[in-house]
Amino acid sequence: MCKYRGMNEFADLGLSAGVAEAFSALGLATPTKVQRLAIPRILAKRDIFLQSETGTGKTFAYLAPALSAAKGLSAARGPLILVVCPTQELAVQVAKQAERLVAASKLPMQAFAALGGSPLSRQESALKKKPHIVVGTPGRLGDLVAARVLKLDALEFLVLDEADRLFSSEYRESVEAILDAAPESCCAVLASATISAATRERAGAYMHEPEALALLDEGVLSRDIEHWVFYVEHRKRIDFIRRLENVLRPRKCLVFASSGDRVGRTAERLVERGLPADSIVSKQEKERRRVAIERLEKGSLRYLVTTDLGARGLDIQDISHVISIDVPEDGSWYVHRAGRTGRAGRKGVSIVLADAIELKRLAKIAVERDFVFRTKRLDSGEVVEPPVEEFFEYVEKGEAEKRAYRASARSGAGRPPSQAPDRAERRPGNSGRRR
Ligand code: AMP
Repeated sequence: MCKYRGMNEFADLGLSAGVAEAFSALGLATPTKVQRLAIPRILAKRDIFLQSETGTGKTFAYLAPALSAAKGLSAARGPLILVVCPTQELAVQVAKQAERLVAASKLPMQAFAALGGSPLSRQESALKKKPHIVVGTPGRLGDLVAARVLKLDALEFLVLDEADRLFSSEYRESVEAILDAAPESCCAVLASATISAATRERAGAYMHEPEALALLDEGVLSRDIEHWVFYVEHRKRIDFIRRLENVLRPRKCLVFASSGDRVGRTAERLVERGLPADSIVSKQEKERRRVAIERLEKGSLRYLVTTDLGARGLDIQDISHVISIDVPEDGSWYVHRAGRTGRAGRKGVSIVLADAIELKRLAKIAVERDFVFRTKRLDSGEVVEPPVEEFFEYVEKGEAEKRAYRASARSGAGRPPSQAPDRAERRPGNSGRRR
């Protein structure tokens, strides 16, 4: 029992003493905003749409109340809690979080991850032991449900994590089969960074008066993340990252590109320039992705290039820098990217390389989401923050040079003028504000 009731903020949310104290045992003193909002509602078995980023504490926001309120522990006719995730990495992470919380709560519960790619026979024998918590990917869970190996009659909580992806055409059929098999009485939680109108409609058909809790961006943008933007033409971006490396030497850096095609090429070019880099994309073989993530975590790799989808749901600890080598179309994707850093009370920097068109898009994202991009330049081997007018003069000049470069390339006339080096453009007497 908590010695000072009222001093454990998790107990105040209505969690059982064991689960509330598990948070203290894990060194987590204060509930995050998403936990404050979601825990009481899930304890009351309300169906909810939980719009929240990875990294805001959303996994415990649904796991803690489910562990606390699950009743059928002794009967164990099948799982009491089922979490469906679109990727194996996310499923493994959620299962690990469940095991951590169960162990810290000292609950007599078992968690099991049912992943596609693992032998079915092994999963069948694991499921015969009736784990209380099952986490898995839709295809495999759907097959196990269809074969009646996984029986959902006792289910009390059904969570669809990264729900927007789960309702994409790729998974929808399996997810709907799982929803069909779940009992009417079970509490349904849909968690996702973005919840589209289509997902709301499709999932809503299976939910009872769902309440929408929207926390989009808050956890990410209020965290200790600085947003930096550099003006860099597309063709100079890889070299620019090389120069940034000399200045920043990121401990762990995720590099985002919008398309899968660009990811592999970018990683190759970074390696050619001597940077410890690799790439992951969502279609890659599981083992290849796992090895790359592990190398980043252990420090033998410092740059991991990926797409927005490739990184979705990944909770790689301790990312010091995020670099966007292009600007995503949708502001929420930018928030996703930036949210990979600045976790667990550490500072992080989200860096965007943009041209004039992308700068306009960024300005819109910043205004809509109420945060500030700091306009930066790399100058004589240092990151500086020149006055904004000077930054935009530099942009104008760069764009003029780009047009001249294209014109001369079209006419085939000699070597095109190159963009003047940063140092040459620095005005005398204006040293810029240092980082
Ligand atoms: P998420 O991906 O949103 O589930 O967040 C995951 C990270 O947040 C994990 O590293 C958790 O250990 C951490 N976390 C969860 N709850 C809290 C909390 N109340 N305070 C601080 N960190 C937390």
